[in-house]
Amino acid sequence: MFSLACTVCEWQGADADLSACPACGAILGVRYASPAIAVNSARPGLWRFAAHLPVRDASNAVSLGEGNTPLLRAAQVGEAIGLPELYFKMESANPTGSYKDRIAAVGITRLRELGKRAWAATSSGNAGAAIAAYGARAGVTGYLFTLEKAARAKIAQILTYGPAVYAVERLGYDPAVEKATWRNIRQLCAAQNWLMLVTAHAFSPHAMEGVKTISYEVCQQLDAPPDVVYAPVGGGGLLSASWKGFVEAHAAGWIDRLPRMVAVQPAGCDAITQAWREGRPVRPIDGCDSAISGLQLTAPPDGDLVLAALRASGGWAVSTPDVATYAAQADLAAHEGLFVEPAAAITLAAVRADRASGRLRGDERVACWLTGSGFKDASAVERMAAARAVTLIRAEEIENVVD
Ligand SMILES: [Zn+2]
Repeated sequence: MFSLACTVCEWQGADADLSACPACGAILGVRYASPAIAVNSARPGLWRFAAHLPVRDASNAVSLGEGNTPLLRAAQVGEAIGLPELYFKMESANPTGSYKDRIAAVGITRLRELGKRAWAATSSGNAGAAIAAYGARAGVTGYLFTLEKAARAKIAQILTYGPAVYAVERLGYDPAVEKATWRNIRQLCAAQNWLMLVTAHAFSPHAMEGVKTISYEVCQQLDAPPDVVYAPVGGGGLLSASWKGFVEAHAAGWIDRLPRMVAVQPAGCDAITQAWREGRPVRPIDGCDSAISGLQLTAPPDGDLVLAALRASGGWAVSTPDVATYAAQADLAAHEGLFVEPAAAITLAAVRADRASGRLRGDERVACWLTGSGFKDASAVERMAAARAVTLIRAEEIENVVD
């Protein structure tokens, strides 16, 4: 059993097709009748936790095998910076290549339970691919509104699943355009009986519940919480939902303490880090100078939820130059065998910076959310590979390749 509660005021209410508090307009959260988290091991992936997800009947689940992703201890890059207990949560192993599958699985299941006819979403790529794939699985169509400069490979993946895709002029670079886009999608969905699936609590509080299962899984995989969690932050939904997962795991008695949460943003697009440093609410920033696909939001819809999670957990926000992120991406491939996109690798870049500055101690157990696959951003792959050459040889020359 679940209900809705405002994250700011005292409003509470039964489950309804709401995306904002009817009393004060703030972001809504999902609450459950009991803090105990029932685990049904007979179900696959995140559906083990269906009793603590906002679905009415788990037999309605639309699933592609999401969740239950590996948690890997760093083989080399942790030792290299004096951080032996460094772990990577491999969200790139989800069916469409990113953690957004957890949101899409819950969101499209809810679409089915509410009898909605279609979905509409904004996305720079990963959420769009996830929602489109789960929509295809459920046999419902959708409408995706993306950035003019979205990564080509991401859009190609989305198109294969069949939704209508529109690029919105200046989306991702102008806060006024972001707000107008979301407002108009909300109105379109209300008029057409579609489900709005934007991967932020500010729009889709039910679907976002899927994300917290990352934290449930890590608590089970480590048999304890990490000391510190590094999450990439664009809109802020991932970090705030991950925090909710740890808080719920704590309330359920799974863990006896909570991790500190660290929000990682690209230095060229860091509205949340700026707000954290200056001790004020998040304000939209003018323009985005980062090229990290997935983290280009000038008006983060869940920004204030992130600040609340950082304060409650004793964490912090950090910004990282794109060049450090690209270096971390290359090192994850070359020294860990992990092929992830820049928006995932940014967490390792931040861990390195925080070890160098002493903010992170060497004896701490640290987990990085590696949110998406390397295949997601072909231009970033080309950049990593550009320094390496492929030499054309004849078969008779093979014996000569050994120096
Ligand atoms: Zn309220």
